[in-house]
Amino acid sequence: MSLLSMIALSLFAQDGAIREALATVDDETREFHEHIVVLSSQWMDGRLPGTPGMERAKDYFEHHLRAVGLQPAVEPRTGHPGGYRHPFSLGTDFIRSGQAMATVVNGELDEFQGDTDFMLTGMGAGTDGFAGQAVFVGYGLEVEDRNYTNFSDDTDLSGKVAVFFRFEPMDENGESQWSNRRWSRDASFANKIAAVGSRNPAAIVILNPPNCSDDRAESMIAATQRLTSRFPIYMCSIEAGDRLLKALDAEGRSSSEFRELADQGSGPIPLTNGMITLEGTIEEEQQWGENVVGLLPGRGDLAEQAIVVGGHLDHLGKGDFGSRRGAGQLHPGADDNASGSAGILMIAKSMAQAYADLPEDQPARSILFVGFSAEESGLNGSRAFVDDPIWPLSDVSLMTNFDMIGRAIDGKVQVAGAETGVGLRAIIEAAVEDCPLDVTLPSRSPGASDHTSFLSREIPALFGITENFHDDYHTPDDTSDKINFVSGMQMTRLFADIIKSAALLPERTAWIPRSDRGSGRSAGNDTPRRASIRVRFGIRPDSYDDDLTGILVGGVTEGGSAQKAGVQSGDILVGWNENTVENVRGWMELLRDHDPGDVVAITVLRDGKQVQLKARLEGRDTEG
Ligand SMILES: [Zn+2]
Repeated sequence: MSLLSMIALSLFAQDGAIREALATVDDETREFHEHIVVLSSQWMDGRLPGTPGMERAKDYFEHHLRAVGLQPAVEPRTGHPGGYRHPFSLGTDFIRSGQAMATVVNGELDEFQGDTDFMLTGMGAGTDGFAGQAVFVGYGLEVEDRNYTNFSDDTDLSGKVAVFFRFEPMDENGESQWSNRRWSRDASFANKIAAVGSRNPAAIVILNPPNCSDDRAESMIAATQRLTSRFPIYMCSIEAGDRLLKALDAEGRSSSEFRELADQGSGPIPLTNGMITLEGTIEEEQQWGENVVGLLPGRGDLAEQAIVVGGHLDHLGKGDFGSRRGAGQLHPGADDNASGSAGILMIAKSMAQAYADLPEDQPARSILFVGFSAEESGLNGSRAFVDDPIWPLSDVSLMTNFDMIGRAIDGKVQVAGAETGVGLRAIIEAAVEDCPLDVTLPSRSPGASDHTSFLSREIPALFGITENFHDDYHTPDDTSDKINFVSGMQMTRLFADIIKSAALLPERTAWIPRSDRGSGRSAGNDTPRRASIRVRFGIRPDSYDDDLTGILVGGVTEGGSAQKAGVQSGDILVGWNENTVENVRGWMELLRDHDPGDVVAITVLRDGKQVQLKARLEGRDTEG
């Protein structure tokens, strides 16, 4: 590390000294700093895909790709102009309008508050307006095996609103009577909607039950999968459910009393004291994500081959998912990954200049600079980039990824993936010679990020990340004032050197299959595969049976990796990086491959919906 950067670093530690510190660094470092400050500002709102803040971040990124002369690389397609934007589906979202619910008792209207007391769910249709009587049908269940039903033979709900509790019969502790897991499979929404739906209701209102052990009862966000288009399905909070039952029941019974009846397996109970009115429409809307791409065209024989220089531009917004603390507050994501995005812009600028300065007959590979979107929700942008490529994948010779390059401590950084392509290690080692950072080349990737999508297609990929993990990761405290601009820019220059060498190399950096790696590095000292599992995820698996794909999470360790990642008991773990989790045994094999500190992208099923999370694995010996 240079004396100048030492001075700069020590100044960063003092309040109000950033201006003086920046005065001691070069123009490039100042520019790198500015990109990070802008991208992690309030103006970008945490860069959550689908929000205006992310639109601004994409505009900013595209502006700077254009400014250095990069070209559009995406062909127009149906419904999308292409250009500098590579679109991909982000699934569907539900758009509600005019949702209303009220009870009418003796001509008196009692209106419930949308999104607070009730919600029109995406499980059903909408309604222009409906008024009718309600019928309480327990848990809305008919389970032959258990001899349990909330219906009588002739129950016909035509013209009525079916009202029932979420989950299934409970004991006095609010836990299932039927299962020692959280709930049995009978409790699924699909089962209930089918059982109640076959009795022709005009609408369904599902009540979160009182005194229930499952904290999901506090939320009305549930399955977003459409289960019927015949009638609307509403969901009520615990409090609103109580208010609704007391108003409509001729005896004025509370929801606790109704729960007791349902727990005993009551049949239908007409709620005859008044009417219920419902309104609201719900539409599915296709959600699009966009990667931002700029092309630096190659020359001569090598122009058909491309190098992808990428990193994710998106972050967590206000921490709606993936937050480790402070959900609801701005998550600036200065290190994760405004730092990497800034690095890509700086490399784009220097490579555009380098190509302009090349001798005219010098062959060079094309370079695609990419700000990926929707990485945080499960590597969606980079997966789309390899699933729906804008450049033939067989002609992509290398990918480089930056994810969190801004918080190096003592100049310690990592470049992973040296063993994935022929000649990469030599290129990296040559570039490191001229780099003031303390660079290590781990033989395994320290985490899943956008490079993972390319590795899965057998494209050599390098991953640049700082070595030390900071506790501000995925919190509102990942702010730009904590970024070490000097080392960040040094990392950026290191990658610019590596990319330039790889771009001009006559032989391409061909893929090295996993089975052929590792020779040379530990020649004569081949370490046997370690048998023990070195990491702890922190869940109590609740299913060892083979009929369920995935692992039912019976409990999460307080303060463990899983809890920090947002895993909840009741979730079903189904995805682990690029692997499907089949059962506990298979998952243990996956765990064997990890070291403490690894970050994995995991997928859980929650209420039938896929939720993407990221977990940082802790060592087995770091309990407490
Ligand atoms: Zn990241």
